[in-house]
Amino acid sequence: MSDSLLLSRSVAEVAADIASGRLPRDAALDASLAVMESANAGPGGLNAVLWSDAEGARAGVAALTLNPEQRLAGIAVAVKDNIATRTMPTTCGSKILEGYVSPFEATVIARLRAAGAVIPMKTNMDEFAMGSSTENSAYGVTRHPMDHTRVPGGSSGGSAAVVAAGVTRIALGSETGGSVRQPAAFCGIVGVKPTYGRVSRHGLVAFASSLDQVGVFGTTVDDAALGLQVIAGVDPLDSTTLDVPVADYRAARGATGDQPLAGVVIGRPVEYFPESLDPRMRALLDRSADHLRALGAEVRDVSLPHTSLAIPVYYIVAPAEASSNLARFDGVRYGLRVEGDGLRGMYEATRSQGFGPEVTRRILLGTYVLSAGYYDAYYKRAMAVRRLIADDFTKVFAGGVHVLLTPTTPSTAFVAGSRSDPYEMYMSDIFTATANLAGVPAMSQPIGRIDGLPVGGQLLASHFDEATMFRVGYALERALGTEAHT
Ligand code: GLN
Repeated sequence: MSDSLLLSRSVAEVAADIASGRLPRDAALDASLAVMESANAGPGGLNAVLWSDAEGARAGVAALTLNPEQRLAGIAVAVKDNIATRTMPTTCGSKILEGYVSPFEATVIARLRAAGAVIPMKTNMDEFAMGSSTENSAYGVTRHPMDHTRVPGGSSGGSAAVVAAGVTRIALGSETGGSVRQPAAFCGIVGVKPTYGRVSRHGLVAFASSLDQVGVFGTTVDDAALGLQVIAGVDPLDSTTLDVPVADYRAARGATGDQPLAGVVIGRPVEYFPESLDPRMRALLDRSADHLRALGAEVRDVSLPHTSLAIPVYYIVAPAEASSNLARFDGVRYGLRVEGDGLRGMYEATRSQGFGPEVTRRILLGTYVLSAGYYDAYYKRAMAVRRLIADDFTKVFAGGVHVLLTPTTPSTAFVAGSRSDPYEMYMSDIFTATANLAGVPAMSQPIGRIDGLPVGGQLLASHFDEATMFRVGYALERALGTEAHT
């Protein structure tokens, strides 16, 4: 079977064939490694892959004790470079961690391995996951696989590009304000941010701990659902995970009949459809809503009145937490050390040479909003408004709505270098940051194209109700068929 043919089949099918011996155990890995080469995914090409370990992955596949329970038997999964692995560096796209290899592995990596997956590559990202274009990496920009002049989105742009280029069908990213959903939308693939507390953050390098979650990219809804299924669940190593049973996210995959969404109420929050929204994007969302209605769902307009405050609140809360979390990169404990005049001089030299401009900006912003004179005026108020944003969601879901439908991003993939104003870049997450502030699950899936570039539709659900979100996602994907990519 050719590489692309193998990679055109769902991960669940291929893994089942490998687990039962119908396919050679190295078939999926070989296909991924071949496409990594042919798509030129590494430096000098897409620059989506920062580090790779073909030999280690081959050895991993050879050492597998295959059994039918392994849901990812022999499957190659690409992992964002801020998730700790023992086999390759974990640099967070930063010079300050150049060459750093973690002495332990993230819980999500352990769970992937237990399911039979191998990790042959780490992917490029905006430094410390701060950005929306993967232009902030110390290791160079990542290119959009469909148009090399454009960005793949960010901060998990490397993982999104790898999946969109057909190298792997599942990849891990991380989400603080939209870093999985936004690049998924730009690249025409599926991206999921789970409920806060659904997936362990142990081994995910912290950016803003009250917002961060590991997220999953998939070629299709089913690949993403399977990926999340494997990594979800309470973890004693992360006290912010919750012991809520993990539902069968793939339960709705085979739903047949012409009304698979009977009884489901879909809300369209008016604040996500402003006057300024590109009419072509609005039309694609309308088309999706029509499909959902035809599948038996009720679609109604709802309001999340505090939506416009999400970006201002996010850019107080996230930098505040980042300034504290990034204090550990001091030239003593990890990675880079630049000598200076005494201990203080060493800290200063290390941090000013190790961090890029966006990370420095966030640390300054965060230190400012947490300082004694400004804490009440900025941080405390932002926390109060964050509560209002979360309450908006609680009220809408308590009012009988199961899933919300919105655009994922205000635009399609933009040209690299075209957004030099940080504020303009920050607005990329206008439709995604709310879910992180509220802690609810959300996903982006392809719903069509504008000028040949992918557009994402976002589905959001109430806390720990990923199953309903996937149920709607499966049905919409099937109803759209090839429309999703045309
Ligand atoms: N673009 C947002 C930021 O720069 C979100 C990043 C993320 O989700 N990690 O903070």
